[in-house]
Amino acid sequence: MEEKMKLIVNGKRLDGRNFEELRPIEMRLDMVSRANGSAYVRFGSTIAIASVFGPRELFPRHLQQPETGIIRCRYNMAPFSVEERKHPGPDRRSIEISKVTRLALEPTIFLEDFPKAGIDVYIEILQADGSTRVAGINAASLALTDAGIPMRDLVAACSVGKIDGHIAVDLAGDEDKNSEADIAFAMLPSKGKVTLLQMDGILTKQELKEALKLAKESCKKIYESQKQILKEKYRKVE
Ligand code: ADP
Repeated sequence: MEEKMKLIVNGKRLDGRNFEELRPIEMRLDMVSRANGSAYVRFGSTIAIASVFGPRELFPRHLQQPETGIIRCRYNMAPFSVEERKHPGPDRRSIEISKVTRLALEPTIFLEDFPKAGIDVYIEILQADGSTRVAGINAASLALTDAGIPMRDLVAACSVGKIDGHIAVDLAGDEDKNSEADIAFAMLPSKGKVTLLQMDGILTKQELKEALKLAKESCKKIYESQKQILKEKYRKVE
């Protein structure tokens, strides 16, 4: 059997981080001029771009709901985003991630204000180094805001997991692959509502509590970065 990769050396993670430390975050708005709103989010070398189109009349028409708008999400990993070329197009993983992304975003949007309309969210992963679904959700939340869509709150997301026996946040690719457990987590930070919670692997009850506490604290940090980038945009407009 292949020997398991060591993820903690001298009390630090492979990239020198502490357990509760996020990778360097970069966020930008207005990335895709044809979209109504768009955003770029980088966590270390994981890069996601989200574009939002709508609310607009929904086609095909049979999907239209007389009482509410709907949101559709597509998560896509570029073939060049990983070391070995990824087969282009949707697969089981991307279909699942598209669905959970929609569920993570849906509760924050005032969809009832847009009967018969649709909002399309396209997430493109340009570089994948772990935690891509949560990077995509952070980007999508910014892009929805950038599109001026009325929302109850932003959505902030992060991953947490257990690596070499320690609970740690924002798993990079090698950490994800070799983790004992990993969790994808999203929440509406000012409302305190959790909108995504997925877990692979096994944790004790105590470890799960610790992981969720770390995820919540980390989402608050991400939320601050999201707010800052949005404020900068509107400061420019003034
Ligand atoms: P997430 O990216 O949200 O953590 P997964 O746990 O499914 O979702 O994937 C973990 C990581 O595994 C990805 O971020 C990426 O670095 C890597 N990965 C996923 N799919 C592929 C693939 N087809 N080829 C190579 N690496 C991949």
